[in-house]
Amino acid sequence: MGEPAIVWFRRDLRLDDHPALDAALARGAVVIPVYIADAREEGDWPLGGASRWWLHHSLRALAAALEGCGSRLLVRQGDAGRELLSLAAECGARTVYFGRRYEPAARAGEQELLQRLQQGGLEAATFNTSVWHEPSAVRSVSGGAYQVFTAYYRACQVRLDQGTPAPPPARMAPAERWPRSMSIEDLGLLPRWDWAGGLRQAWQPGETGAQAALDRFLKAGAADYDRLRDRPDREGTSLLSPHLHWGEIGPRRLWQRLRRVQAAGNRAGPVGASEGLAAFLRELHWREFAHHLLWHFPQTARQPLRPEFQRFPWVEDDEGYRAWCRGQTGYPIVDAGMRQLWATGWMHNRVRMIAASFLVKDLQIHWERGAAWFWDTLVDADLANNTLGWQWTAGCGADAAPYFRVFNPVLQAERFDPEGSYVRRWVPELAKLASRWLHRPWQAPAAVCEEAGVHLGRTYPAPIVDHETARQRALAAFDRIKRRRAPRV
Ligand SMILES: Cc1cc2nc3c(=O)[nH]c(=O)nc-3n(C[C@H](O)[C@H](O)[C@H](O)COP(=O)(O)OP(=O)(O)OC[C@H]3O[C@@H](n4cnc5c(N)ncnc54)[C@H](O)[C@@H]3O)c2cc1C
Repeated sequence: MGEPAIVWFRRDLRLDDHPALDAALARGAVVIPVYIADAREEGDWPLGGASRWWLHHSLRALAAALEGCGSRLLVRQGDAGRELLSLAAECGARTVYFGRRYEPAARAGEQELLQRLQQGGLEAATFNTSVWHEPSAVRSVSGGAYQVFTAYYRACQVRLDQGTPAPPPARMAPAERWPRSMSIEDLGLLPRWDWAGGLRQAWQPGETGAQAALDRFLKAGAADYDRLRDRPDREGTSLLSPHLHWGEIGPRRLWQRLRRVQAAGNRAGPVGASEGLAAFLRELHWREFAHHLLWHFPQTARQPLRPEFQRFPWVEDDEGYRAWCRGQTGYPIVDAGMRQLWATGWMHNRVRMIAASFLVKDLQIHWERGAAWFWDTLVDADLANNTLGWQWTAGCGADAAPYFRVFNPVLQAERFDPEGSYVRRWVPELAKLASRWLHRPWQAPAAVCEEAGVHLGRTYPAPIVDHETARQRALAAFDRIKRRRAPRV
């Protein structure tokens, strides 16, 4: 019987391709798997409602997978260092294996934790279990951080191969006596009143769900990804984001699967396969870039990367914010996105950009308020990706959309939801409106509205701002912060 060793699961809730677990097993250890709910790791971004729902089900899936191998998942709550030391004392383990985390609070806590483990006589072995490229490892020629995606992506090309992923273990030796554990239910992650019906319908949290989503995508969507990824009315993207966020699938496994499909495609020659996969690989690297940025600029989860934006005249508009959150702005594509988000915990990337632009530019509401709403409602809420997405849209981040780019919600909708099926699905009160007017119902002739049962201001809101006026206002505000010089300090 091997020596007991703790494997601490964090943002890597899977058994497949899990370097920390694999290292413990390779040493012949009796693995003591544990999840520790330590709120301090999340810093001032405590898990939102949709994330908590996902985590509950993902932990259940992990526990079931471990039981399938003859093992168990122990669950603890509170200070991670204290829990690891007490668990080690209970089971006689001398080593802890775990995956590193890269968000500011978790990273800072990790430094302190490693010291405490060492002082407590525990050896710690840490691994990259959640990202493709260690955020600190990719450096520009001057040794600093990349702030332009294309240059970052180019630098990553020579590092795509990160070794061969190991399959999940078939059996794991059980502990002689299992240490104490809470139940997953004890963590109280599920909502008190059940608003999660739409989430249950849309998602299968856990490793099996992640593999199924990838299979589905590689079979049906990947070849056309480059052409369809911007279309919210089509199922053109992978829906892997929550699985990637919780580490239910690892980047090495993804890369291996992509290469296999690519190789098979090259033999069979399906038109578009390589363009689709190349575009997908690039998009996966936006996630890597986001982690790279947050690692190098940890303040950006709260502050703009470009300091001049600290002076931006954001508007306090609670009514506008509420209308936006509830999908009642009077702009159908924005409202469709916000309702999709509320119902399913996910929103299509193109619509995220349109809805975010509407909040920060048309309503001039601080991007942090938008980020907070997304944080609470997205099943894929991810500090690095969310920060990048919001700062990019607001124009205050790295490689950001230029400040003068204000998404026109009508033109965007007409281009990316041309038949209107996305809007019809999520804004059913407009479903009978002819496509010509669907994305701009306030311009539809009265008789057309009457026939479609649309009564603006009654069955569906009139636009809460006029886009052209709001755009001019936003541009003037951006112009002011650009021209004013930074105060001397
Ligand atoms: C304002 C705003 C906020 C966002 N907040 C989040 C968030 O909290 N969590 C999150 O995972 N994504 C966020 N995104 C990025 C993107 O919208 C989602 O990753 C994507 O819609 C997920 O769907 P998918 O898995 O089908 O993506 P696919 O198109 O299939 O892409 C595959 C994977 O690549 C990564 N990816 C794709 N696009 C981006 C991107 N622009 N930035 C970073 N990673 C990307 C994701 O991990 C995604 O799962 C945000 C974007 C914006 C504009």
